[in-house]
Amino acid sequence: MPADTFRELKMQKSDFCRILITLALAAAILSACQSGGHGPGVPPVIRQNDGDGDGRLNQSEFPGPPQAFQRLDTNGDGYLSAGEFHAARDARDASRPPPPAAKARGGPLRYTDVHMYLHPLGLDVTMGGAARPHGPIDIYDNLSKAADILIARMDRRRIKTALIVVVPSFRGEPERSYQQMHDIVADHRGRLALMAGGAILGRMMRATKPGAVTGAVKREFQKAARELLAAGAAGFGEMMAYHLCMNPKHSFQQVVPDHPLYLSLADIAAENDVPIDIHMEAIERAAPVSPRLARVCKQNPDRLAPNIAAFERLLRHNAKARIVWQHIGWDNTGQMTPELLGRLLAAHANLYLALRVPARVAGIDGRPIPNRLVDAEYKLKADWLRLFQAFPDRFVIGSDEFVGPSGEKPRIAASFDTSWALLDQLPEALAEKIGGENARRIYRLD
Ligand SMILES: [Zn+2]
Repeated sequence: MPADTFRELKMQKSDFCRILITLALAAAILSACQSGGHGPGVPPVIRQNDGDGDGRLNQSEFPGPPQAFQRLDTNGDGYLSAGEFHAARDARDASRPPPPAAKARGGPLRYTDVHMYLHPLGLDVTMGGAARPHGPIDIYDNLSKAADILIARMDRRRIKTALIVVVPSFRGEPERSYQQMHDIVADHRGRLALMAGGAILGRMMRATKPGAVTGAVKREFQKAARELLAAGAAGFGEMMAYHLCMNPKHSFQQVVPDHPLYLSLADIAAENDVPIDIHMEAIERAAPVSPRLARVCKQNPDRLAPNIAAFERLLRHNAKARIVWQHIGWDNTGQMTPELLGRLLAAHANLYLALRVPARVAGIDGRPIPNRLVDAEYKLKADWLRLFQAFPDRFVIGSDEFVGPSGEKPRIAASFDTSWALLDQLPEALAEKIGGENARRIYRLD
């Protein structure tokens, strides 16, 4: 999940607030800058009942019983925010039914999660579903705590390494996000490794239209990419190709996968023997964006623009560039089918797929997420298992969860335990490959 969550720390309400928060990061200032208004992603219950228009519901505006108000008001501030409603919905989804408990796995630490995030507050706090801590926030200290929590969770799953992704923030400060993650990962060498460039290189890609890439732009891009590798990145990621906006803290992002800078990145990746992680909705055929998705976020386009042909041009451009398509199993267009992926895997030996099982059953439009890897009881679907068996060396697990400093598993966008529960349903040899061997080879972790 590529939420621009670091933007939360700046709230983007006004430059004044942004500067204050960047300097102080005090919880009090955060809430003072958080104003009302009915932006995208506001649940209907708020829109229909918010008498004073402050973007949240107080006791008297809430149409339900007082006990429900108490239950939903998880931060106890006397108001129900959009985040608290979202958190309740996610928790409801996640609790129906619970993901299977992990089978105890013995042996050495050996698995790899190729897609995890550390967050200085945690998504539950930034989305308004949990209380904000009081006082100033020490980002480095909080990220350290988050790293320790993640590593403890990895130990229980026999995961040796997690690749930490720098949030490909759209409006944030890419250099700062990168440096924070770089430093935390460096402190946990051997357990954490860094995928870098989503923020810094992504910004350069979005800034230059495909037809406007000059020699100078290309040289500047290549220099930045090589610097990230020289500073220890295990690969480039997460790079945005097509990212739909799902909530008020998200953004719509699109860079065609055959953009000249993508092709250039493939060459640098090949020459340095590192992979590229890509975030991309599968769009083989143009289609309208679902009305709900259009309503949730005004940035989303009216129509989905096809991207598979351009993606195949990227794959063909340099056969030595290993491309890892992230979030397989989290489909928001209905087109990420085992059939499409099977065809692409057969055609492109440098394509790899990272699996994700969201805890949520329903997608953003309220309907079941299409092409999920598992059924409602978390049982792996037969067509996906057949695909894994047909291409056993091409799949990895990228569970894509944000780990915060609080020690609790997140209620919002949980996907670590549900993704790793996949392993327990695979034949043993396949589990070893998908859980660890493939990632160690693709990301050159040994
Ligand atoms: Zn992503």
